[in-house]
Amino acid sequence: MKLVSVVVPCYNEQEVLPMFYDEITKVTDQMAKDHPELTFEYLFINDGSKDNTLEILRSLALKDERVRYISFSRNFGKESGMYAGLENAKGDYVVVMDADLQHPPAFLPEMYSYVKDGEYDCATTRRVSRKGESKIRSWFARKFYKIMNKISQTEIVDGAQDFRFMSRQMVDAILDMTEYNRFSKGIFSWVGFNTRYIEYENVERPAGTSSWSFWGLFKYSLEGIMAFSTAPLVISSLLGILSCFTAFILMIITVVKTIAFGEDVAGYPTIVCIIFLLSGLQLLCTGILGQYLSKTYLETKHRPIYISKETAESYREKNGKPSAEKAPDEADENK
Ligand code: UDP
Ligand code: MG
Repeated sequence: MKLVSVVVPCYNEQEVLPMFYDEITKVTDQMAKDHPELTFEYLFINDGSKDNTLEILRSLALKDERVRYISFSRNFGKESGMYAGLENAKGDYVVVMDADLQHPPAFLPEMYSYVKDGEYDCATTRRVSRKGESKIRSWFARKFYKIMNKISQTEIVDGAQDFRFMSRQMVDAILDMTEYNRFSKGIFSWVGFNTRYIEYENVERPAGTSSWSFWGLFKYSLEGIMAFSTAPLVISSLLGILSCFTAFILMIITVVKTIAFGEDVAGYPTIVCIIFLLSGLQLLCTGILGQYLSKTYLETKHRPIYISKETAESYREKNGKPSAEKAPDEADENK
């Protein structure tokens, strides 16, 4: 028997969650029929939702043995949610997907067909269009991938998503990356392994709203650059060298000019310009350094990536319906 864990990070998803549950069980029930060796578990991560997501998960957990969830003590972000899911998934295969049906469960059988023989370690989808997204957002996204792939050794595929069907081996490799500043698109590609891309047209959310604002995405893209490239540090050094060089040339010109033509007070605007330019450059370089330093600072604190407050197991226990399955650490001991 092979267990497939479906990991689903959820943040304020009360509108789509019941729809998602119906959809995913429909697809996985069919898969279990077609491939008798497969069993499924659904591991929802409630990322500090402020709506009824947790209540929905609780009732699903009481109704369906296969449903497990981990509820965070606050909103830790999708990256932490995915990490918690991968860490607690017991499956031989792990699927990561969004709750909003933008990652159509209908792809699962095809994904499994690539991964099952071990030919690929991971099957994932790639959006070929950004239909339904604003023009400016798509433009920035495309530019981001272009810059990112120029300055980083890790390839980040444009349109690649966090919708993945992975082998246990790949999941373990990802779990070995315990960094605090997580940028999954980079992590998935950094660990390597054979990845099969399935191309598809973008699907819009049936309900609820995206929790990514433009500013949020912008910050996330900077995070990605910082996490997978040190090019900005090089740029800042180059800028520093360039401005020093310019200043040196200007110095010579000024000295020569003073010797040849005597003192000239009319140079005031030039001086102001130079001061502005140089201090601007200095601030920029210090800023870039500071960004990296702050990331290092956070990493060295070794804070947990997430804090769990409630799990399906603990909830079932409390409601007198202890789950038949063993807690993850007990299961490990019996292996
Ligand atoms: N999500 C999360 N924590 C967050 C933000 C989002 O777990 O802080 C989940 C969300 O519930 C959804 C997935 O991440 O399942 C993708 O979020 P969203 O649809 O808002 O992003 P988009 O599809 O617009 O990139
Ligand atoms: Mg979405």
